Amino acid sequence: MNTNSFSLRHIGPKENDLQDMLKAVGADSLDQLIYETLPDDIRLKKDLDLAPAMSENEYITHSISLAAKNKIFKSYIGLGYHESITPPVIQRNILENPGWYTAYTPYQAEIAQGRLEALINFQTVVADLTGMELANASLLDEATAAGEAMSLLYSVRSRDQKKNEVNKFFVSEEVLPQTIDVLKSRALPLDIELVIGDHEKFDFSDKFFGAFLQYPGKLGQIFNYADFVSKAKNAEIKVAVAADILSLVKLQAPGEFGVDVVVGTTQRFGIPLGYGGPHAAYFATREEYKRSIPGRIIGATKDMDGNVALRMALQTREQHIKRDKATSNICTAQVLLAVMAGMYAVYHGPKGLEFIATKVHKSAVTVAEELEKLGFSQLNSAYFDTILLKADAAKVKAVAERNEVNFYYPSSETVAISLNEPTNLDNIHTVIAIFAEVAEKEAKKVSALTEANRIPEAVARKTAFLQNEVFNSYHSETELMRYIKKLERKDLSLNHSMIALGSCTMKLNAAAEMLPISYPQWGNIHPFVPLDQAEGYQIVLKRLEKQLNEITGFAATSLQPNSGAQGELAGLMVIRAYHESRGESHRNVCLIPSSAHGTNPASAVMAGMKVVVTKASENGNIDVDDLREKAIKYKDNLAALMVTYPSTHGVFESAIKEVTQIIHNNGGQVYMDGANMNAQVGLTNPGAIGADVCHLNLHKTFAIPHGGGGPGVGPICVAPQLVPFLPGNPVIPTGGQSAIPAISAAPWGSALVCLISYAYITMLGSEGLKKATQYAILNANYIKARLEGEGQYKTLYSGERGRAAHEMILDCRPFKAKGIEITDIAKRLIDYGFHSPTVSFPVAGTLMIEPTESESKAELDRFCDALLSIKKEIEEVSEDEPNNVLKNAPHTLQMLTSDEWNLPYNREKAAYPLEYLRDNKFWPSVRRVDDAYGDRNLICTCAPIEEYM
Ligand SMILES: *Cc1c(COP(=O)(O)O)cnc(C)c1O
Repeated sequence: MNTNSFSLRHIGPKENDLQDMLKAVGADSLDQLIYETLPDDIRLKKDLDLAPAMSENEYITHSISLAAKNKIFKSYIGLGYHESITPPVIQRNILENPGWYTAYTPYQAEIAQGRLEALINFQTVVADLTGMELANASLLDEATAAGEAMSLLYSVRSRDQKKNEVNKFFVSEEVLPQTIDVLKSRALPLDIELVIGDHEKFDFSDKFFGAFLQYPGKLGQIFNYADFVSKAKNAEIKVAVAADILSLVKLQAPGEFGVDVVVGTTQRFGIPLGYGGPHAAYFATREEYKRSIPGRIIGATKDMDGNVALRMALQTREQHIKRDKATSNICTAQVLLAVMAGMYAVYHGPKGLEFIATKVHKSAVTVAEELEKLGFSQLNSAYFDTILLKADAAKVKAVAERNEVNFYYPSSETVAISLNEPTNLDNIHTVIAIFAEVAEKEAKKVSALTEANRIPEAVARKTAFLQNEVFNSYHSETELMRYIKKLERKDLSLNHSMIALGSCTMKLNAAAEMLPISYPQWGNIHPFVPLDQAEGYQIVLKRLEKQLNEITGFAATSLQPNSGAQGELAGLMVIRAYHESRGESHRNVCLIPSSAHGTNPASAVMAGMKVVVTKASENGNIDVDDLREKAIKYKDNLAALMVTYPSTHGVFESAIKEVTQIIHNNGGQVYMDGANMNAQVGLTNPGAIGADVCHLNLHKTFAIPHGGGGPGVGPICVAPQLVPFLPGNPVIPTGGQSAIPAISAAPWGSALVCLISYAYITMLGSEGLKKATQYAILNANYIKARLEGEGQYKTLYSGERGRAAHEMILDCRPFKAKGIEITDIAKRLIDYGFHSPTVSFPVAGTLMIEPTESESKAELDRFCDALLSIKKEIEEVSEDEPNNVLKNAPHTLQMLTSDEWNLPYNREKAAYPLEYLRDNKFWPSVRRVDDAYGDRNLICTCAPIEEYM
């Protein structure tokens, strides 16, 4: 046996556990278990055609050699992406630290206070710099955040505007090209008419409900928008602004001139370019729109003892309850990147940010002055970091590229140069020398940055920011390292224990998969560099697309969507374009089974489709008769079915091929939600079940870490007839022949973290991937067998032969008779050192458990022991004594060591109910958080499907 094979490191159970586990589940072999799990007619006949698996060491060498094919030029391209400096203390202690990157979305607030605090910091940075009342804890990128802003302004139109169907949205031509493209794709299905033009010529007619501006403009010019905003206000036109976060240190905050929404990216707060992402976008608005904010907002509340505790406050589902439902489908966001950007502000503080922003500005002014001396005219009358020169673009480009420098060339006669944080005097000299050569003059060395200022007084910032203690305390490395550690210790991540989150697949994020994302040869590339500078990336992205085609059984893949929900939107938009190309643009009905994830209907509405919910049968499967009836009823307008497979009930439904056939017979396309792909890889695939398009969650099945709620990558894979419509990009051509407009800002989305999935597939190979799937199924069925076998729990739903797929639903509703709610069990698990499985999705009052293949038998046993022990505790609960160990969970160290103790059970029982805890105890930092707003649907933050029924 090759003991160095990566699959042995990735897959938890050992060779000699296998027999015991099979015995427990009652199967003779792994093959038999799989036979009993998967319907016969969808099983793959041959192995995946993938390159032989690499060892970890081989992969690292491979990645280094591919990275060497990327040319790392100095990029002054701008357009929303800037070189930045990741403080090493943040790189090492957050980005490269599994305590941070393997955390789950902070639904269990008691074991997530660290990242919740980091996210509140992020929100504070955004609110302060934008001058707005409220900011969320990140969106996917600036362009999609702009799309969310437009949707918000559309949904908060006045009654008259709605009555008169006011649907025009003005977009300044100063807005970044990729943002305009994403606005186009978002506007189309909502019937919003985009009018792109010069904001100085805008007529403020009553046909417009909103306007979108860029601050500073895309080529660097700073405009004073105060007049525009006040005129817009008079005409009842609401205004959103995309603002460069670093420029806001020097510029008047948009909140101060009265805008309604401010969006942007926080990439230049210490996040690597990564050839396009991931980076956290921000979204800030006024208090009055708080119910319409997309994504998540972290808020403060109290715990059971009255201590301050943080939690996710306004969750997206609330916006879907409103009549103008589905203003957003945001689920996974960019939490890890938001944590890093917030920490960058903690590290530098207001003085440090002021220093950095001032230096960037002076660098721009210095370059402008020197180039003017060489005879070039600089066209921006006011600017922060970007200057615009009149020059022969082709000539400049030739010399610049010879000097390994990239500028942006808006026309054949102009060159834009965006200076950034790392720019130093040497770099400035190189820029001057390039222009000197073009002008055939001698370059003079500059010895210091100029003191001149090109920010007009009228738009200069005059208000203070980041005055809170947290931004003025941790400026030495020792202090910041300890602050980061203090927060990390409050959070339970995969480096403590398994996180068995149904539908979220919290598997190993291997170190060898993660290492390359720290290499500057992968990190430091602007997404708009010429393709020949990104050869390493192009090789990886093409290979990953091919691997995913092979795994899904489809013809092509787009890596552009930044999350699963964005993949859903992309896939549905592609289906929409397909119908339109066949003269069937009236097809707009989307069938969605009632058990679907909340993002499905939200995305369908965003794609302009009408959601029709189909029923579940008694055993939890799709009610095929109901589905057939509805498909026939709507056959003239049927656009698509969205189906999750295996179902969100954790079952391989055997009627799936019949289901897809019914849809095709009635003119629809089949969209498969691929969040459960971990149960399919190597055994079956969406192609085999008859789907036409699926999204994958690379942050679930393909090993990208969850990051506490992002980053994510949600590529779509499509059948041949949909290939022409894969999404494009306005700057770097990509996508199909008849590409739909961009779904995300960057041509290949969050390219940097695609390296992780590429590593995962490359190191597992065909055999390892299949084995991973088999063990994911084995591990789930093992837990099912143990919990059921000892007669203590019932699981809901299983396949025809009694098997779960890769996850199962544990029914906790019977315990209500004892007064025990699902939350009590979830919180008591914390005392046992475990993160709760998914609570109340897809069935209220249940836990959905997905162990993944990465957990060992020992860990599965510990987890089962904990659940069985909790079951015993439930039995002990007596009706005369409601004050019990479950209701009081979780127990903090502080309460247990307090001199006062008058609970009706002892401290030991509270803290150490099982032996293993003496060796490895995790202490929650707060007691149960007051969940007054009680959220039934705790998976992600999206609307439960009932709201669409
Ligand atoms: C996670 C999930 C999604 C949404 O994916 P995000 O990346 O969070 O946007 C959609 N459907 C199902 C079934 C999921 O589990």
